[in-house]
Amino acid sequence: MATAQNTEATLFGHPKGLFYLFFAELWERFSFYGMRALLTLYMVEEIFKSLSNRDFATAAVYASYGSLVYASTVIGGQVSDKILGMRSSIFLGGALMAIGHFVLAIENDIAFFLALAFIIVGNGFFKPNISTFVGALYEEGDVRKDSGFTIFYMGINIGGWIAPLLCGWLAVNYGYHYGFALAGFGMMAGLIFFWSGIKKNVFGDKGLPPSMDVFERSVLGIPQKTLIPILSVLSVPLIAYVLSSYEAIMGGESFLGNETIVGLIFKVIGITIIVYLTTILLNATSTERKKLFMAVLITFFMTMFWGFHELSGSVITLFASRNVALDGFMTAAQTNSLNSMFIILLAIPISWLWGYLSKKNLNPRTPYKFGLGLVLAGASFYILALSKGSADANGMVPFAYLIIMYLVLSIGELFMSPVGLSKITSLSPKRIVAFMMGIWFLSSAYAFQIVGFIGKQLAVDSTDVNVGGLDTLGIYTDGFMLISQYSLGAGLIVIVFSPLMKKLMGDVH
Ligand code: GLN
Repeated sequence: MATAQNTEATLFGHPKGLFYLFFAELWERFSFYGMRALLTLYMVEEIFKSLSNRDFATAAVYASYGSLVYASTVIGGQVSDKILGMRSSIFLGGALMAIGHFVLAIENDIAFFLALAFIIVGNGFFKPNISTFVGALYEEGDVRKDSGFTIFYMGINIGGWIAPLLCGWLAVNYGYHYGFALAGFGMMAGLIFFWSGIKKNVFGDKGLPPSMDVFERSVLGIPQKTLIPILSVLSVPLIAYVLSSYEAIMGGESFLGNETIVGLIFKVIGITIIVYLTTILLNATSTERKKLFMAVLITFFMTMFWGFHELSGSVITLFASRNVALDGFMTAAQTNSLNSMFIILLAIPISWLWGYLSKKNLNPRTPYKFGLGLVLAGASFYILALSKGSADANGMVPFAYLIIMYLVLSIGELFMSPVGLSKITSLSPKRIVAFMMGIWFLSSAYAFQIVGFIGKQLAVDSTDVNVGGLDTLGIYTDGFMLISQYSLGAGLIVIVFSPLMKKLMGDVH
C-alpha cells in the first residue's frame, strides 16, 4: 500500500520531508514550551506580583492565552486551506511566533500582552499546518502514516523536554527575559529547518497554495498573500487588549463580572461550531457522517484530557514551586520537561505495542484507548493527591510523587494524543481536513478554559512571594483528588460504552 515510497525520496523508510518537518516542529515546540514553563511563574512573580489575587489573575490570563493560542489554529487552518497553502502559513506563523518571543524578552507589561498576542496569531498559522503537512506526505491508506506521526510526536517532545531545562536554567540564573529570548532563537531555528527542506525540494508539490489565482488575487487593492500577513499583525493589539482587559487585572468593575472576554467568546464559538458541524454532518454521505461523528467524539474526550494535562504549566508548576521538595535537583519551571521526557522514552514502545496488537488482531479501538487514557490521567492525579500523606513538617512532598505522576499521565497521553492526531487526518473528508485539524486543536483551546476554571479555584490569596508549604498543600491536593475522580469516572464510562459504540460504528473507529 505504501505507494508514496516508490515516487519519493525516503529516509528510514519515511518520506524525507518528514524529517524536515520533524526538526522544524522540534524547534517550534522548543520555543513554545520553553516559554510556557516560565509563563505562570513570570506572571505570579513579576507581572502581577503586587496583586493579592495574583494567582487568580495569572490563572485567568493563562487560560485566555492557552485558549486563544490553540483556537487561532482554526483560522490558520482555514486560511491555509483556502488561500495561503501550508508552506506560506508555516513561514508566516513561525515569523510571528519568533517576534512574540523576542518581544516577551522586553521587560514591560504592555510588551508582555503584545508578545502573547503575537504568539497566539503565529501559532494559529504554524501548528495546524505543520501537522496537516505530515499527513499530506503519505498517500491515503499508507501504513507508515501512524508511525510517521509517532516520529513527529517525538520531535514535539524533544523540544518540550530540552526547552524547559534550558529556559528554566536561564530564567533562574540570569532572569526571565533571557529564557524568553532563547525561546525566540529556537523558533528561528525551526524556520531555518523548514526553509532548507523547501530549498532541497523534499516536499515535492505539497503545501503550495490551493490556487495561485486566489493567492495573488487582490482584495482592497492588495494581493491576498500580502493582505493576510498585514491583517495578522493588525490583529495583535486587539488580542493583546482582550488578554489584558480582565477585571482582576485592571482592578475595575466589568460588565462581564468574573467572566473573561475570552471565556465569553468561547461560549459563542462553541455554539457556532456545533451549528457548522451539524450542517456538515447533515450534508455528508453516511460513511462520512460516521467518520465525522467519531472525529468529534474523540476530540471531546481529548478536551477533557488536556483540561487536566495542561494544568502542568499552571497549577502543577505552582505546586512544584510551593510544595515539592525539589532539593536543587530541578527548578519548578524545569519540572515542565518531565512530561516530554517520558513521552520520548515511551512513544516508540507504545506505538510498537499497537503494531504488535494489530498483528494479533487485538489492537483496541480508538474510543477504548481514549477511555484508558482518561483512567490513567485520573490515576496520575490520584498519585499527586496522595503525596499529602508524605509531606514533611514544612508541607513539602517528595519529588518522586511528581515524577511518577508525570510518568502515568504521559502513558495516558500516548494512548490518546498521537493516535488521535493521526486518526483525525484520516477520519476527515479531504476538503475539510485542515478545518478538522483546527477542531482538534480546539480541544486544547477549550481545555484551557477548564485549566482556567481549576486554576481560579485553587488560587492562593497572598502577596507573599514565598507563600507555600503548609499554607498551600491542602488546597492543591484536595483539588488533585477531585480532578482524579472526574477523570477516572469519565474514562470508565467511555470503556463501559465501548462495545455499544462498536455495534453502532462498525469499522469506523
Ligand atoms: N504536546 C502536544 C504538542 O505540543 C500536544 C499539546 C496539545 O495539543 N495540548 O503538540
